Amino acid sequence: MEKIAAKVREVAKQALASGAVTKILGWETGEFWYDASPVFITDEKAADSLIWDAFCVTNLSKYLIKELKTTQKIGVFLKGCDSLAFNQLLKDHRIDQEQVVIYGLPCPGMIDPEKVKKAGLHQGLLKVKRSGDELTFVTANGEKKVSSRSFDYDKCLRCRYPNPVVYQELIGEEIVRETSNEDRFADVSALENLSPEERYDYWTKQFSKCLRCNACRNVCPACSCEKCVFDNVAAGISGKATVDSEEQFFHIIRAYHVAGRCVDCGECSRVCPVGIPLHKLNHKIMKDMNELYGTYEAGVDGADKSPLVTYTLDDTDPFDGHRQGEK
Ligand code: SF4
Ligand code: SF4
Ligand code: SF4
Repeated sequence: MEKIAAKVREVAKQALASGAVTKILGWETGEFWYDASPVFITDEKAADSLIWDAFCVTNLSKYLIKELKTTQKIGVFLKGCDSLAFNQLLKDHRIDQEQVVIYGLPCPGMIDPEKVKKAGLHQGLLKVKRSGDELTFVTANGEKKVSSRSFDYDKCLRCRYPNPVVYQELIGEEIVRETSNEDRFADVSALENLSPEERYDYWTKQFSKCLRCNACRNVCPACSCEKCVFDNVAAGISGKATVDSEEQFFHIIRAYHVAGRCVDCGECSRVCPVGIPLHKLNHKIMKDMNELYGTYEAGVDGADKSPLVTYTLDDTDPFDGHRQGEK
């Protein structure tokens, strides 16, 4: 990834120097070994601070919504999952394609710091370098090479779009990887195999941990309303609820609000500080949509429409296929 990082800096410098864009959105090194923070730069000299490494997991697309209100043209670096989010934001009329230049980055996968900590490899860690599926853990005492498979985010292990689906310029070679549709919904099938009572218990336990910090909502590219219905302080629904049912209500409403627009980026689960596997709820809705209306993946095509916003006389009646309580 280091060679591509050098190209990232070069591309950013040229884009700013030529006036092709007035701002670049990328990542810079944060405070800790696992930090890669989003950064806007306007000065070509600052392009030297841009990075592309195994921790550039943050999806940059959503940052465009606010920034494009005051900036005419932004150049942005997008991975595969970020590009799906970009397409969805376009379809939701949250951003204007004309104001953006996309530099696509084929992505080998990103490293989950929690997995590194669990393996005890974080002690004295200075840096993690990635080359394809090989990681090098660098400490003051030397280097250790390992396979990335044990450390990739779960979402990266099941990634179906390592290459951006939309870009003006691709930085580096496309990644060739076998992707299968077969186990796309394996997590949902496991939940569906539980009894309704077991499933209810599972989600009640998960949602009771929720702090209502809103990180899942704020990071989500499908949750892009300027004013969220839950930011209603007067109605008492904007913060941590005193009863579990209200927390469940928040998550079910959110899942329905993003139904048909969720791009399966897994960011909601990644940022949750208490580890609630939120994407499983969205996955269940996605699986049902695919079974009822045919294969559909939000964000893959910038122009198609979600089955939930279209209607044909042949459409399945969902209550025929999924009787209440059956799944
Ligand atoms: S989901 Fe795919 S594109 Fe996104 S960070 Fe993981 S490997 Fe990269
Ligand atoms: S990120 Fe987690 S704790 Fe925060 S609101 Fe979402 S589910 Fe709740
Ligand atoms: S609901 Fe979660 S997986 Fe879906 S788009 Fe939002 S952050 Fe990504």
